[in-house]
Amino acid sequence: MNAQFPFDNTYANLPSHFFYKQKPAPVTKAELIAFNSNLAEELEIKLPNSGLELIFAGQILPEGADPLAQAYAGHQFGYYNPKLGDGRALLLGELDTKSGRYDIQLKGSGTTPYSRNGDGLSWLGPVLREYIVSEAMHHLGISTTRSLAAVGTGDKVLRETVLPGAILTRVAKSHIRVGTFQYFAHNGDIEALETLYKYTKKRHYDDAKSITDFLSRVINAQCDLVTNWLSIGFIHGVMNTDNCSIAGETIDYGPCAFLDKYSASKVFSSIDTHGRYAYSAQADVIVWNMAQLANALLPIVKNNIEVLNEFNELIQKMPSQIRSLWLKKFGKKIGITKSTSEDLKLISGFLNGLASRNEDFTISFRKLIEEPEYFKSVDADWYNAWESRTSDEPDPFSVMASVNPNLIPRNHQIEFAISSALNSNFEPFHRLNVALKLPYEKNSKFSDLELSPTDKEEVVKTFCGT
Ligand code: AMP
Ligand code: MG
Repeated sequence: MNAQFPFDNTYANLPSHFFYKQKPAPVTKAELIAFNSNLAEELEIKLPNSGLELIFAGQILPEGADPLAQAYAGHQFGYYNPKLGDGRALLLGELDTKSGRYDIQLKGSGTTPYSRNGDGLSWLGPVLREYIVSEAMHHLGISTTRSLAAVGTGDKVLRETVLPGAILTRVAKSHIRVGTFQYFAHNGDIEALETLYKYTKKRHYDDAKSITDFLSRVINAQCDLVTNWLSIGFIHGVMNTDNCSIAGETIDYGPCAFLDKYSASKVFSSIDTHGRYAYSAQADVIVWNMAQLANALLPIVKNNIEVLNEFNELIQKMPSQIRSLWLKKFGKKIGITKSTSEDLKLISGFLNGLASRNEDFTISFRKLIEEPEYFKSVDADWYNAWESRTSDEPDPFSVMASVNPNLIPRNHQIEFAISSALNSNFEPFHRLNVALKLPYEKNSKFSDLELSPTDKEEVVKTFCGT
């Protein structure tokens, strides 16, 4: 049997300067590391019993695949870069499935005309990291691209040292970014910008009634996403506009990490020297990113003052929109179903307590369910206020248990999975993936994965690894 993907490509039919058609590079020896059979099933993909490694290494192209590298630009750490594009990724094609349209993309499949000085490759570490974290995010209930497969290429990739090459197969609602709009807007290519807008609106927000409504949908999706990140202690690390998806998915997992000890200003990424993308700064950066999207849409609305004012209003109200989502989500984390601004003090009091006692973010919210007396012993005032506020809640403990994960992909466990894989032991990688399928449940088999790192294990810096 040949591989059967229900390909139905539409991006490939857009004007030819939206992309370059490009075939994946040959690899030395493809080896399957992971294959997500549940996701394949959801995507209605039918695969032969053998040879998957050749398909997911891009060596055998399934019928209907039409690989291309997409053009985009973007603000990187606040500075505009007019030419980014897929430098090490290729869109194989789109699947039209019962649950919607999805891009299938290979990441690490060789150079493209956008590679600049890069080699177009990925080494094993970032591939395993993205596989683990994107799937974990999905199971945590957070909008994200997903991982269908990871393969080793048998090639050597030169970074600081020589490392084994790998390719990730990524699944996304689309790979259209804020930076895709910026690319055409900054080139003054209004016709292309309008084409992109019509295409994207139809693909993601078909029922949006106007361009303002379109912008507001993207903003709503991003506000929801970023407050979800905050609620589980996720730090994306590179919230550049080229890493900001119009569909509102978490995309481009690079030096991302999760909070261990709670700190609002926590930064992991080695290149984020000024903390632009620090944990709590993410709520501000998304406003900036959406303002860049609004800017990029302006040439379409020309000088229509009314629309301009509507755009402005949408951006201006983002901080309060984010605050109220944050309040709602963090309220639930301490057992309050309908929090109001009056609960801000209680929520902040909890977080400030964690910061001052140097306590773990994820574990502490679970501790409030499992051993609430602990908080009485360390901060009786806070505890009494919390007990009285939650006393008229019907079931605060179930509310807390439904939103406070027991397991997150902890940085040190990801590092352990990667370093083991470099020694040809993929067991920790597979075990982590299995455990993270049910992050809200307690499973004694995986209790070691709940633990915060020891001082020696703690990951203090993460790297792009590209
Ligand atoms: P990222 O850090 O993944 O958001 O990538 C930023 C830009 O650099 C994108 O245009 C990527 O395609 C490009 N890039 C990253 N790594 C490589 C690589 N190894 N080879 C070529 N281009 C790359
Ligand atoms: Mg990127």
